[in-house]
Amino acid sequence: MPSPLHVAIPAAAHPYWRAALQRSGVPTASLDANTGPESTLFLPDAGDHDSPAQRQHVVRLHRAGAPVLAGTAWAQTLDMPTRLHWFGSADPGAVLAARTTPAPLAILDLPSAERLLRPAASLARRTGPGGLAVREVLADVDHGALRRRVERALCHLAHTAGRPFARFAHHPGAYRQTLAIRIDADGFRAAATAALRASLQRANLRSTWFVDVERHARGDGLAGLADLAADGHELQSHGFRHYTYRSRARNERNLRRSAAALAAFGVRATATAAPFGTWNPGFEQAVRALGWTWSSEFSRVHDDVPGPLGGTPDEPWQVPVHPICPALLFAAGAGVAEVHAWFLAELAACRERGEPAVFYGHPIDDLERCPDLLPELAVAARAAGPLWQPTLGELVAFHRERSTSTLTARSTATGIEIESSGPAALQVQMPDGSEQWVLGRGTAAALEPAAAPNAADSALLVPQPRRRVRADRAPLRTKKLQLARLWRELKR
Ligand SMILES: [Zn+2]
Repeated sequence: MPSPLHVAIPAAAHPYWRAALQRSGVPTASLDANTGPESTLFLPDAGDHDSPAQRQHVVRLHRAGAPVLAGTAWAQTLDMPTRLHWFGSADPGAVLAARTTPAPLAILDLPSAERLLRPAASLARRTGPGGLAVREVLADVDHGALRRRVERALCHLAHTAGRPFARFAHHPGAYRQTLAIRIDADGFRAAATAALRASLQRANLRSTWFVDVERHARGDGLAGLADLAADGHELQSHGFRHYTYRSRARNERNLRRSAAALAAFGVRATATAAPFGTWNPGFEQAVRALGWTWSSEFSRVHDDVPGPLGGTPDEPWQVPVHPICPALLFAAGAGVAEVHAWFLAELAACRERGEPAVFYGHPIDDLERCPDLLPELAVAARAAGPLWQPTLGELVAFHRERSTSTLTARSTATGIEIESSGPAALQVQMPDGSEQWVLGRGTAAALEPAAAPNAADSALLVPQPRRRVRADRAPLRTKKLQLARLWRELKR
């Protein structure tokens, strides 16, 4: 059902894009004959299935006031007055062009979903407070950053048109922040496990442990899992042998063997994380074949919200973590104080974005070197407001339930009447910067009637063709500067 709070997306769009909006919590509707100009349109890609009739429909809706966010592929099929120049794809989500009349429109550099889903990872550099830099093997595409840019652009376009923008919150009910902890229990040393267990108790935090089964069995560590479960921690499989194979069959054998060993100690494994973070398609096929429902792979997606990355129904959900563990920071020469500063900064960044903070570490040679880190993070998080503190399994369950939320919204004289179902409040962001949270049924304040489009404010920003970067590069042109300003605004 179209409404002023839904984003309409063509049914033929690649499921990746719908899944991206779903991770953002943005209510979506199918773009069809019932879609009216009160909806914001998102046209991420083009295909043979996008008929000339649908393109005409889009042009009509846009002329009637519907804000449009298009990927390059769609934009090239629209009635654009100027040829677009490809601005390069090194930075997916960059704004290529924008205009404000007849309604706000922006064109983003959106690579094809097939390209975005290509399973490629490589060594990436991350920097934190004080310029501390570390390297980790991460997915080549920063899906979280791309999704946030699309979300920001949709919000910006709606606000430019004088309309509200809505998304379901990333936390259940009245919670305003979420902190979850993943423990990769590589190897086993009783003292390290005991120290981490004590640290978690002191922090009053629950966590999800991925157990390296073979080395726990060898070190007599499996019997201790019952104590961890009794503390409220979730236990899952990190494989029998701590190794990620290329083939589906070998991964499946390894995971099945781990599940059998864990079952003997009362642990029912239903999820996993690829050993060494070396996820590959064979690993995912094994997870799927076992009927396991989620996995946590930062060589696939990191610093993002749980969801099915490709958007297909039977695909295991991903639970992204912040991909830097304390051990990596120690190895880069950081001291304990710098490690604390890194994670406090990340926690603040997640809170700022309204997204869950999911951190990970290991018991041995890692969290045992900074036993006060988790307690300090917990204190900082709780000081900032009501904190939801789930296991990763509970986090996935919440986001699954949120993905089935329904919303009806209609504009009336008194405001937008909202009726929604689901575990999360609807965050309605008004063009004036105010925000309202509606859980279930409620009314968001009335809006001033949208101002008539200002003909003077119709600059179409067209970037110059990409040039090679040279030391003696000519000064940037005005239009390029305008574009950069808009881009910064959308990225913020
Ligand atoms: Zn591991």
